Parts: sequence; C-alpha cells; structure tokens
Amino acid sequence: MPKGIAASPGIAMGKAYILEKEEYCILEYKIKKEEVEQELKRFETAVENSKKDLGKIKKRVEEEMGEKEAYIFQAHLYILEDPLFIQDITRRIKRQRLNAETAVRRTLEVFEAKFASARAEFVRRRFGDVEDVGGHILRNLLKRPTRTLSHLEEDIIVVADDLAPSDTASMQKGRILGFATNVGGRTSHSAIMARSMEIPAVVGLRDITKKVEPGSVVILDGNRGRVIINPSFQQLENYRKKKKRFISHKKNLATLRSLPAQTLDGREVSLAANIAAPEEVELAVREGAEGIGLYRTEYLYMNRSSLPSEDEQIEAYKKVIEKAAPNSVIIRTLDLGGDKFISHFPVPAEINPFMGWRAIRLCLERVDIFETQLRAILRASRFGNGKIMYPMISGVEEIRKVNQILAGIKEKLRREGTPFAENVEAGIMIEIPSAAVIADLLAKEVDFFSLGTNDLIQYSLAVDRVNEKVAYLYQPLHPTILRLIDNVIKCAHREGIWVGVCGEMASDPLSVLILLGLGVDEFSVAPTSLLEIKKIIRSAEWEETQEIAVKMLKSKTSYEAKRLAERRLSRRIKRIVRGNNNAG
Ligand code: PEP
Ligand code: MG
Repeated sequence: MPKGIAASPGIAMGKAYILEKEEYCILEYKIKKEEVEQELKRFETAVENSKKDLGKIKKRVEEEMGEKEAYIFQAHLYILEDPLFIQDITRRIKRQRLNAETAVRRTLEVFEAKFASARAEFVRRRFGDVEDVGGHILRNLLKRPTRTLSHLEEDIIVVADDLAPSDTASMQKGRILGFATNVGGRTSHSAIMARSMEIPAVVGLRDITKKVEPGSVVILDGNRGRVIINPSFQQLENYRKKKKRFISHKKNLATLRSLPAQTLDGREVSLAANIAAPEEVELAVREGAEGIGLYRTEYLYMNRSSLPSEDEQIEAYKKVIEKAAPNSVIIRTLDLGGDKFISHFPVPAEINPFMGWRAIRLCLERVDIFETQLRAILRASRFGNGKIMYPMISGVEEIRKVNQILAGIKEKLRREGTPFAENVEAGIMIEIPSAAVIADLLAKEVDFFSLGTNDLIQYSLAVDRVNEKVAYLYQPLHPTILRLIDNVIKCAHREGIWVGVCGEMASDPLSVLILLGLGVDEFSVAPTSLLEIKKIIRSAEWEETQEIAVKMLKSKTSYEAKRLAERRLSRRIKRIVRGNNNAG
C-alpha cells in the first residue's frame, strides 16, 4: 500500500486520472553572433506572451475560485519580472550563444539546485513555482498548447508527479475528488490547494504515477497518507464506512465553531490561527479562530524582485486586520535568514545560518527595512486590532533598541500627521533559550510573550529542526523544555502579561493539554487544526491538567514525562483525534 504524506484530510474513492509530467523536446544548439538579437527578441516575446497567459489565468481563477486561489499567479507574474531569473537566461543567450529554449532549461536546472539546498521545506517546494513559470515560457517558445484539466466527463482522482498552479487553475470544479502526487510536502502548492478546495490529498508518494494504471480504481486516504490501488470489495466497504465516520466527525467538529475554547471546569483560553498569506485569514475566521496569533510576514517578501513598499504592506496587513476584527492580529516582523531567504536580498553565506545574521538581528542593522514594516503595521492597525511581535529576541538590550526604534517611528508619524494606531501592543517570540531563562527581565519590557516552540526546542536541545538524522532528539516533552516553558509562564504572569504558544507544540493534542496545565493563555495553530484542538480543550478538566503538569515537571526524561501524560490523557484524546477516530 503506497504511503506518503497526509496533506489534506478526507477520503476519496474513484477512477485515477494520470496527469503525465510535461516533457519538452528541446533541440540544443548554438546561435551565431548576429542571431543573438533575434533570439533575445524571441525570448522577450515568449515572456510577454507568458505574462498574458498568466494574467488571463489569474483573472479566471479570481472570478471562479476567489482572490486567495489567484494570489499564486500574481507570484508567478513576479517571477517573470525577477531580474535574477530573467537575466540568467538572457546572459546565456548573449554570452554562451545558446538558443532560448536551452537557456531557459539551463537556468531552471541552476535554480532547482539552489532551491534544493534550502533547509526549509517550504522554500525547497517553491521551486515548483519557478518550474511552472519556466513551463509557460517554454510552451510559448515551442508554440505548444497548455495542458488542462477542464472538460472532464466524470469524477476523477488526479495522480501526478506534482501539480503546478496552472494545473490546479484549470481544474473543473466538483469533478476532482482528490490528488495523489509523487513529490511534495505539507506546504507544497498541491497540498495547500487541496486543503483550500477541501478535498483529500496524499503527496510525497515517490512513484505513484508508475504504480497506478489510468482508469483504475483507487482509494485516497488523506487522513493517514495512504493510497490503495485496485482495492478489494472488502476494502471499499471498509473505506465507505470510514468516509461516513469522517464526514460525521467533521460535522460534529463544525458545531464547535462559535463555542469558546473552555475546559469542563471553566478555564477559558484564546484559540487563534497561524497564517502566512493574507488570504488564509478567511479560512481561519470560517473555522472560528479568535484572531491571528502569528502572521508570518516573510512570504510577503518572497517571489518578487524588490522589497514590498509601505503601501503594499499596509494593504496586506489591513486586509487581515479587517477580516479578523474585532479579534486581534499578531503581525510578526520579518523573520528572514536562517533557512528563509529571498532572492533579491543578499544574505551572506554563513556556516551557521540558524545562529547567524537573521530576523531581528538583520532588522536592527537594516533599519530602513524594519522601519517600513513597522510604519505599515502601525498604520494598518487603525483598521482593527493589530499587534506587533518581534522574532528571535535573545536579551534585554535588543528589545530596548527595538522599543526605541518604535517610539521614534511613532514620533515621526505624529509629526507628519499620518494617522496610525497609538496603542499597538508589542510582544516577543520566546524561541531562544536565553530569552526563556531571563523571562522575568523581558516581561518588564513587553506586552506579551509567544512561545516559538519550534525554535525553542531546536536551540535548547541543539537539534536541527529539519535534520531527520537527529529527529529522535527533538523532544518537546524534554525536562528542559518543560522547565523553560514553566519559567516563562510564571515570570509573565507575575508581571501581569499573557503567554501564547504559536509553535507546532500547540497543534499536538497531548502537548496542548500539558501546556494548558502549565498555564498558557493562548494557543495559535494552523486553521485546519483549530476545531480539533478546541474539542480537546473542551474535553479537559483544567485542574487535572495542572496536576499532571506538576508531576511532569519532576520527570527525569522525555519518555517518563510522555508516559505519565499518556497514561492519564491518551484514551480521551484518541476518542477525539481524527486519525484514530478513523482507524481500523
Ligand atoms: C517557532 O519557532 O516556533 C515559530 C512559530 O516560528 P517559525 O516556525 O516561523 O520559526
Ligand atoms: Mg521561530
């Protein structure tokens, strides 16, 4: 049974439709010196025509599916204007005298290698966008028609190497039951699209296109990341039952949308959503998020050829703030560097990028970039309830510097007579161990804390969060992590400020209950996890979680802590969590 990554929940059964990878038959040849001008012209025309194609797709998707789904095509239009990408191709035509098709292919190969070396999965996956744009240029150079998934006569499950945005854009609404792809991860385009279309998807199946015959029946289990090819009658029957259970589970969860995240004994916490693109706020609000607990703004700076202007940023922040109102939106300032980089902004190569010139360190040096973003946040916050959050704060000096810069910007805005929100709260991510240890000192300087457990675990245990070889050491319930979190919460509460958790620990059912017991005030999770986490909180007794947390703080190992928590809580969680609800 092929196993991949469960990218979008749900179960689908139907006929497989194999979407073959597009192969371009490219003739490689050298051009003469006098042909260079003409070849450049041919390339420019192909780029212009690609822009027209993309503009049309964007408009159609906007009309048929919405602004959110169309956003990716704007990003593709930016790639067509990216000087690094375009100049790399024209240089090959001019200097190496390559024909345009070969030049495009070579540039794509170079970009593929560059993206593949990125550590963050979402950055690696972005090559798919560059490849899709390259495909448009090649099709225009070769004068080939675009492949399409429109005009389908029956319901199908798409099986493909990967799905490019132009594929998903051409999909006929209602006919596509789900996706299964060879490549991809939870943040690849096909996964995001499947979640937004609310259809199941399994990605990263490696060679599913080779295993499935066109037209054969497949079962797609988006809950467990499995695909069953040519299932038996019994398997079909079992999955029909599972599908029914899943649908009723979803319906059941949907009834929680407007209910508070409150324990059985009355402890109410705030349950917010993490987003990366402004468009995601709609799903978050639909799922009942009480605001945005983490808006990762890095994406605003990606897939483009220059830094976003103040006005552009205001537009993005305002959109989120207005949609989330009256709830608050915590806008995290640029967390660039480490494994998140942008092509048009040179971050020097470093031996230890995760501990290098990044995030707040970069912003404190490039105050121009920082100031533009802070002005935009302050100005956009007038339209609702925006909050500022600084990433990677390691000590008191940094936060003092930042607060000084913010005060200066406010003063300037006042002098200019530019309207802005005067009392925007400002908080920090607690994701560096030094910050967690001196939480008592930092709590005096800020309005709130948000625990970035992804990085806090990585730095405290010295375990690269994306290195599979040391993944066994990445232990959220390690005594160090529990003690640090406990210290942060106690220090914050002593100073009268609140503490949220926006790292992945907040989406883990068992950890949520421990964090609840430790006294966390706000949880911020992916929009698709909101209701499940709410159900878990609503099923718990706060007093019991507090008692368990106290015992866990005395554990000597992660294993001991985990066993203790599981013994008390696992049975209840299993009844709630989707995967187990559908097991069998
Ligand atoms: C974290 O570190 O936990 C976090 C939420 O930030 P990011 O994953 O963007 O580093
Ligand atoms: Mg982080």
